Amino acid sequence: MHDLIRQAEALCQRSGMAFTAPRRRVLEILAASETPMKAYDLISKAGEGGQATKPPTVYRALDFLCQLGLVHRIEQDATFVACNHAGHSHPMALFVCNTCLKATEVAYDEVAHILEKAAEVQGFHLTRLVVEGRGQCQECALAA
Ligand SMILES: [Zn+2]
Ligand SMILES: [Zn+2]
Repeated sequence: MHDLIRQAEALCQRSGMAFTAPRRRVLEILAASETPMKAYDLISKAGEGGQATKPPTVYRALDFLCQLGLVHRIEQDATFVACNHAGHSHPMALFVCNTCLKATEVAYDEVAHILEKAAEVQGFHLTRLVVEGRGQCQECALAA
């Protein structure tokens, strides 16, 4: 079993939330995927036995998994990616490779701190911060 699934089970148990079949299937599909996926692609295979399922089921599962930090949404592409080290509480930036489309998570605590301070100075109540980048991953750069 994938580590992430085990972590999801533990996390749900600790917080008294149900790790329902759709939630599990969506997480399993994302964990097995090399690249971030669109909700549409998840809908087409997150049903029982790899069949299509209802869009609201997938959207609700994605909301849940994102809230727990098991899955991240990449805003620029509207895609979803399984977290590569679930349970982290520190903010992460997501870099997406233009060539292989893989997403890389990068810690950016210091940048987040600077932006939070800047918001505070403006009296802006920040609830969410998104830092994303585009470029080429090391593997693709080496292969070029
Ligand atoms: Zn993560
Ligand atoms: Zn790449």
